[in-house]
Amino acid sequence: MASKCPLCGEASLEKRTGVFHFEIPGDNPDGLEMATDFPGSEWDECGACDEIILSKALQKRIGRWQYTRKGLLTPEEMKGVREKYGLTQAQMAHILQVGEKNFSRWENGITMQTRVMDSLIRQFDKCPEDFMRNEVGAQSVDIVGSYLRVIESSKGNNPLALAAHGGARGKKNKEALSRYITGKLEQVK
Ligand SMILES: [Zn+2]
Repeated sequence: MASKCPLCGEASLEKRTGVFHFEIPGDNPDGLEMATDFPGSEWDECGACDEIILSKALQKRIGRWQYTRKGLLTPEEMKGVREKYGLTQAQMAHILQVGEKNFSRWENGITMQTRVMDSLIRQFDKCPEDFMRNEVGAQSVDIVGSYLRVIESSKGNNPLALAAHGGARGKKNKEALSRYITGKLEQVK
């Protein structure tokens, strides 16, 4: 039975199930072919205006596929990196030197981060020590200097150093690293 189309108002909306073909029309800057089929999908199609209304599940599937296809961190993965170090969105934005709103949009999947930004977030996650030396360091020598002094003076015994070098990344180490980064960010505000 057809239901009312929210776009044209005609009672021509029909449920469809099966293979949904997704395609981003036109050239895209990545030069990637952004088209694929999603079997086992559900959507509505209007016979009057040709509008297609995707189910929530299908929207989510397509969204996730686009991140994977482009080789980008999903919004959930991005949030995971931030939370791993106990940082707020504002702090993470500061570390990446982007606006808090931008970062929040990426993490909520409203806009997609650029490849460069994606790579910066991965670098931060891989080794916050190196990252802060290279990125924040460019703007704030203080942070870097004192951070590195802590690392260097620890000779591997300090939980901060262990955490920063990706060694025994226990809960305590993560917390210590997180406190350290947060403290340093406070100082440059
Ligand atoms: Zn319609």
